[in-house]
Amino acid sequence: MTTDVFDQTRDQFLLPTGVVYLDGNSLGPLPKEARLRVAREVRTEWGDKLIRGWNESGWFDLPRTVGEKIARLIGAEPGTVVAGDSTSINLFKALNAALSLNAGRSVVLSDTGNFPTDLYVAEGALEAAARGHTLKIVPPGAVADAIDETVAVLMLTEVDYKTGRLHDMAALTEQAQAVGALTIWDLAHSAGALPVDLTEVNADFAVGCGYKYLNGGPGAPGFIYIRPDHAERITPILSGWLGHAAPFAFDLEYRPASGIDRMRVGTPPIISMSALDTALDVFNMVSMEAIRARSIALSERFIAEVEARCPDLSLASPRDPERRGSQASFRFENGYAAMRALIAKGVIGDFRAPDIMRFGFAPLYLSEDDIFTAAGVLEEVISDRLWDTPEFHKRMAVT
Ligand SMILES: *Cc1c(COP(=O)(O)O)cnc(C)c1O
Repeated sequence: MTTDVFDQTRDQFLLPTGVVYLDGNSLGPLPKEARLRVAREVRTEWGDKLIRGWNESGWFDLPRTVGEKIARLIGAEPGTVVAGDSTSINLFKALNAALSLNAGRSVVLSDTGNFPTDLYVAEGALEAAARGHTLKIVPPGAVADAIDETVAVLMLTEVDYKTGRLHDMAALTEQAQAVGALTIWDLAHSAGALPVDLTEVNADFAVGCGYKYLNGGPGAPGFIYIRPDHAERITPILSGWLGHAAPFAFDLEYRPASGIDRMRVGTPPIISMSALDTALDVFNMVSMEAIRARSIALSERFIAEVEARCPDLSLASPRDPERRGSQASFRFENGYAAMRALIAKGVIGDFRAPDIMRFGFAPLYLSEDDIFTAAGVLEEVISDRLWDTPEFHKRMAVT
């Protein structure tokens, strides 16, 4: 039975008592095994093996080992994903590569629902390329109509980080490719949250995040995917020694490694990557389809409860769960203070300016009871105006 499976997956995590965690879309919680793995990696592999760890502890291959585990979650073929660097950096690498594969076109198309770092990185990448590209940013609903022969690259995030609105990755990819554009999909809020099939969709490039639904820990490495037929044609913009065909030949000239290995740059953060490596094993217990079904059930329940109990909040997410990622967002004028009050009472979500209270649903460790508890506490915060104190109005650095 599915509930049993999710009881088992929940047991894989160290969750503080008295906390309902609805922010796994920002930072996944700590898997018990990851804690042990990090301790072992530090004490034995680093402490005792020292430099020998690179050969004896699987360190050198770890970015690919982790990449293979992620590949299985996003429908990528073996050998097409490598873990490392942040999502921002991987996006820079992917965009530069896509632009050089599609030279002669001038537009990078994205949308206002994209995460700001994606747009900032694109600005920087276009500036660095200095080939007169323009970044065209349209509202999410206008993307399809803006795809034309001028577009070199369609660069989108599948799940809108604020509202959870889901782009139709298959349809937009097909439409872009039909006019000769390449696609880059940011899977930051997709990987580990819902089924993704990059092979089926025929995506050209994808990037994503290790510390959200994949539970790799704060600042965990991200990942990059390149369609196999493109990979061999790319000269990486960040041509580092670990993406070289023979790093330890110490050649003075760069020669890219074969395939996805060329997207490696410098020395990977082994401690952090080993946490991600172990965190990914929880996904062996349950299919992405089962996770998605349960995520929809939990979010539907939460939305119904909140709408019944908190009429001052309005749903900012698509009502159709099939058009929504694994989160539910509500608009509330005093959303920042209300979220602070909610967190003070042990229900952790987050806030996205100007007025969005955001709740993520990660079925691996959330129960139905959590949903009712969260809705009940939220009702109390709103109806008793618990948010209305100076303390909760003061903005912190991270919201
Ligand atoms: C979380 C997120 C990122 C984060 O990028 P970092 O480089 O890891 O800070 C990037 N893009 C999207 C769409 C995100 O949701």
